[in-house]
Amino acid sequence: MEVFNRFESEVRSYCRSFPTVFTKALGCRLVDEAGTEYLDFFSGAGALNYGHNNPRLKRKLLEYLMEDGILHSLDMATTAKRTFIERFQRIILAPRSLSYRLQFPGPTGTNCVEAALKLARKVTRRTNVLFFTNAYHGMTLGALAVTGHAVKRAGGGVPLANAMPVPFDGALGPRYDTLEILERLLADHASGVDRPAAVIVETVQAEGGIHVARFEWLQRLAALLRAHEVLLIVDEIQVGCGRTGPFFSFEPAGIQPDIVCLSKSIGGLGLPMALVLIRPELDVWLPGEHNGTFRGNNLAFVAGAEALSYWEDDTLSREVERKGRLVSRRLQEICDAFPEAEGVVRGRGLIQGIDFAVPGLASGVARAAFRRGLVIETAGFTDRVLKLLPPLIVEDADLERGLERIAASVPEAMAALPQLQRQAVGV
Ligand code: PMP
Repeated sequence: MEVFNRFESEVRSYCRSFPTVFTKALGCRLVDEAGTEYLDFFSGAGALNYGHNNPRLKRKLLEYLMEDGILHSLDMATTAKRTFIERFQRIILAPRSLSYRLQFPGPTGTNCVEAALKLARKVTRRTNVLFFTNAYHGMTLGALAVTGHAVKRAGGGVPLANAMPVPFDGALGPRYDTLEILERLLADHASGVDRPAAVIVETVQAEGGIHVARFEWLQRLAALLRAHEVLLIVDEIQVGCGRTGPFFSFEPAGIQPDIVCLSKSIGGLGLPMALVLIRPELDVWLPGEHNGTFRGNNLAFVAGAEALSYWEDDTLSREVERKGRLVSRRLQEICDAFPEAEGVVRGRGLIQGIDFAVPGLASGVARAAFRRGLVIETAGFTDRVLKLLPPLIVEDADLERGLERIAASVPEAMAALPQLQRQAVGV
């Protein structure tokens, strides 16, 4: 790790949580340069839903490379992009009766969110955007302004304007209906809230600590916004592409957002791509009004187009739901076995986690699990949630193996806890 510690910026993060040098990866396995094998329950923060080096996707890439297929093309028309668009239309949109125009912004999630916010403001000619407590939408200034995390917001270095937080589903405890608050803010012309262009929401707040919005809440949110002529932007960057079971996490709620942000696993093999889905009437962009050098990552189009094969029927979707039930059952058993850990299980499909009330415990479990050969991250402002994001194609035996490593890590982390707490206060 010497090279990284000496020469790479202090901003580096995951290489601190997982302090080894990785060389190879296949499916849900990572191998470091010492030859140690790890199970990957992090999946590139949701960019590797189909696993590392998925052979089916990799074969397509290799063929494309060997034929001198064009790699960089700005946003020029290419056969790779055409195939991706045609397949996305046929496999994803048409069967769901969804009608969207496709915009390819720069290839990161945050760029996708920037494009969505700019478009919503342009269409409505309003500036204010509402977002939810604990939201995470990216690190560029526009996306940061609709992100909750105080440290990340402070990193922006300027006042973050034209956005206002409102409480997410359940954020104020079971006694409060958070949508009633939003409704009053929108309906009351003396509320002090400037009429917003849009509301941006994650159906499951991933980085924010696995907070799951109820379908009924999402339906009421969509209806409320329609009544007030406010646009609904759904950020599917981490929980889309099948992470919760269906391709879009909002499908079971039966809502049709005005704008949808996709990135991460849309590129199939961890290759950068972002996609904004725009209700056709809202597509008021001028040519080149939101552009970028890397809007034509053809390798991502090739891998992404092939990955859509997984969605030609509902096999993967049902598998994700089945494996999700298995994971949440096992996590509940772990919580029941260690009541002192005060764990609560939350999640949908294959984004699941344990919220440990005991400070420092989730990070301690993640560290202990890494020593046992499991790559797993924490989420939430105080890192109190252990977050499981295995690849969707994970086999049951590996899922069980990873869960066993978590189960063994909990008592180990609890035993180390007094020491952890002393470290935290700098004693
Ligand atoms: N939105 C959500 C919901 C995310 O999870 C992320 C990434 N964790 C982003 C936006 C930003 O994506 P990127 O890191 O590719 O900019």
